[in-house]
Amino acid sequence: MNNIVAIVGRPNVGKSTFFNRLIQRREAIVDSVSGVTRDRNYGKSEWNGKEFSVIDTGGYIKGSDDIFEAEIRRQVELAIDEADVIIFLVDVEEGITPMDAEVAKLLRKVTKPVMVAVNKVDNSMREKDAVEFYNLGLGEYFTIAGMSGSGTGDLLDALVKLL
Ligand code: GDP
Ligand code: MG
Repeated sequence: MNNIVAIVGRPNVGKSTFFNRLIQRREAIVDSVSGVTRDRNYGKSEWNGKEFSVIDTGGYIKGSDDIFEAEIRRQVELAIDEADVIIFLVDVEEGITPMDAEVAKLLRKVTKPVMVAVNKVDNSMREKDAVEFYNLGLGEYFTIAGMSGSGTGDLLDALVKLL
């Protein structure tokens, strides 16, 4: 299917929460693509009349830190191949971690559009904390709270323009 949006990022940044918000009240198409579905959730979403598929990555990552890193790298590389737009989710509570920096390094080489979404921006103080994410070297970022939905409208407005 065309118009594929992949959500990438290290564990615990809020990818699945955001994914579930995007596919809310939509039929999830889980397990429809062979081979890669065990660690990836596929869903359908729509915004401003534009339909798109969403991939939630990294659902079943477990193991040591080393396995984590290799697996996240694999997930990001898959997403780069598969998606039309990549949403790189990071977490304002934690700031930029070494793993975030690794992912950013991969994404800086990508010619497809990459949107940085700083998640868990639950209040205006966290809005200020988010400025450090300019240091990822991926340009402008969006601030969102996947849990409440705050900020997600602006992100989606920009997203569907890229599809
Ligand atoms: P994933 O591992 O990247 O898929 O992250 P999850 O979606 O499983 O979320 C990890 C944790 O972050 C959970 O405890 C969520 O409740 C929490 N979380 C997700 N979104 C938000 C948010 O907008 N604000 C806050 N404060 N916590 C959030
Ligand atoms: Mg998850």
